[in-house]
Amino acid sequence: RLPVLAVIGRPNVGKSTLVNRILGRREAVVEDRPGVTRDRVTYQAEWAGRRFKVVDTGGWEQDVLGIEASVAAQAEFAIEAADAVVFVVDASVGATDTDENMVRLLRRTGKPVVLCANKVDGPSGEADAAALWSLGVGEPHPVSALHGRGTGDLLDAVLRAM
Ligand code: GDP
Ligand code: MG
Repeated sequence: RLPVLAVIGRPNVGKSTLVNRILGRREAVVEDRPGVTRDRVTYQAEWAGRRFKVVDTGGWEQDVLGIEASVAAQAEFAIEAADAVVFVVDASVGATDTDENMVRLLRRTGKPVVLCANKVDGPSGEADAAALWSLGVGEPHPVSALHGRGTGDLLDAVLRAM
């Protein structure tokens, strides 16, 4: 069984962009269960010679239950099934109430968490990333999922956590 990495975070922080980065745009769908888990899509990925599954959690924002409730429920499902979690936060926005709620949920599950401070597109964003130490889930890894900046270091940390 391959280790499973769940990518979680509130809508529009860049989860799907990060997953495409991790996949190198191969987007090999190995598991997709519409109906039961229509908002979770699993892909097969590889980094530094290690294969793993990566679960994107796109689509929560369309859930009829509303953003907060659906994020919490789907995040909990994805986290329970995962060996490690990448928690994506938009560093250009900073920590929101939803992010704080997700931290509480993550603590309950006890799964290893790697904090991705996304949308750090250049050196000027490094301070925004450092501010996310305040979330209390460890070192914020500055990343630009859009440009690929920092994703190698993030994945190294992910492999250490799995
Ligand atoms: P998701 O809802 O968390 O899956 O977020 P998406 O991956 O769909 O991205 C939401 C928006 O953020 C899109 O317009 C992306 O192009 C943008 N985005 C994602 N990553 C980055 C990044 O590293 N830098 C910038 N500037 N924009 C990003
Ligand atoms: Mg998405």
